[in-house]
Amino acid sequence: MQGTSYIQISKSAYKRNLSYIRQEIGEHPIISAVVKGNAYGHGIENMVKIAESAGVRHFSTFSVDEAYRVFHASKHRSHIMIMGMATEAQLDWVVENGLSIFVFGMDRMEKILSIAKQKGKKAKIHIEVETGFHRTGFEWSEREKLSKLLIENLDHLVLCGLCTHYAGAESISNYVRVKEQIETFHKFKEYFKSKGLAFSLYHTACSAAALTYPETVMDMVRIGILLYGFWPSQETYMAKYKHLLTQTTKNPLKRLLSWKSEIMSLKEVKMGDFIGYGTSYMAPRNMRIALVPVGYAHGFSRTLSNLGKVLIHGKMVSVVGTVTMNSIAVDITELRNVKAGEEVIIIGKQKSQELTVASFGETSQQVNYELLTRLPQDIKRTITT
Ligand SMILES: *Cc1c(COP(=O)(O)O)cnc(C)c1O
Repeated sequence: MQGTSYIQISKSAYKRNLSYIRQEIGEHPIISAVVKGNAYGHGIENMVKIAESAGVRHFSTFSVDEAYRVFHASKHRSHIMIMGMATEAQLDWVVENGLSIFVFGMDRMEKILSIAKQKGKKAKIHIEVETGFHRTGFEWSEREKLSKLLIENLDHLVLCGLCTHYAGAESISNYVRVKEQIETFHKFKEYFKSKGLAFSLYHTACSAAALTYPETVMDMVRIGILLYGFWPSQETYMAKYKHLLTQTTKNPLKRLLSWKSEIMSLKEVKMGDFIGYGTSYMAPRNMRIALVPVGYAHGFSRTLSNLGKVLIHGKMVSVVGTVTMNSIAVDITELRNVKAGEEVIIIGKQKSQELTVASFGETSQQVNYELLTRLPQDIKRTITT
């Protein structure tokens, strides 16, 4: 161990998640692996390697700096699609290298056209339309102006896609809103068709939509969280679980990530002594504690003070006192022969016990997405089978 903790990423778990998604969506749609947020905390370079070895050839990022990392990690000239941020200088690089990018407003449209013309190179674009998420996307009222512009500039553009994003497909409470979005998307699609504009790929579904609104699965799906082995929400899991009961009751998804550290030091504490900063934990009996060199600076949330658990010797042990910047103290009074240097599991399995990101997230009130992406980039990540 070089740092104070390390992360392992399982290749076989990825393959299993991918085949589950394939089984759900059928054989035709392209699966674009979403690797924004440092590949949901797993590390972009690792994930490109694992995904390509599993046959994935399409990646989605939020920003151009992420796309740049995918571009250099790819060994198979996989296609890269940018769904969000690009500065003007970055747009130049995008067009030059044949990546595709979401265009959600006239401003970007004009910039990308001028770059394409100046380079004499076609810009690959996905037109994102506003269907109800109300963050990015061309408005219905812009359709005429937009279609005219596209038709005039077909020599400078490749119309890779027409797309949108749903505002909360992971919860049934958004059902009406999502249904309306699907309808609006089809209105846009028909409108462009009527103008003679055809896009190579129609794509709208993220993980939750792909599982719970099958009609959103079109030519391509943009899948993030499922590939990393997590359900978008408890609700999506339950919705699928009922249906899965008829085939197998086993959770078809498998977590890729394990997060481990080792015991730094041990200490005896007398009954009545306070452990750590302040007075949040008073030893109720004579205790033995182990210091684990992982704290909030490493992504172990301060809200896990006196609440978090880790695994040592295959047993769940509790965090006692406050989580500090670089360490936690855990109660090992009940364990025998614990030594410095022994393995500590923060997320993952040890013997028959398992700490999942979900249970870790519930105690710290972070959802999977947030907890994963907050794992610092400098924790060493290695790929395991
Ligand atoms: C993040 C994102 C996705 C993937 O979402 P998951 O819930 O992780 O599958 C798909 N599309 C867009 C536009 C996104 O920003």
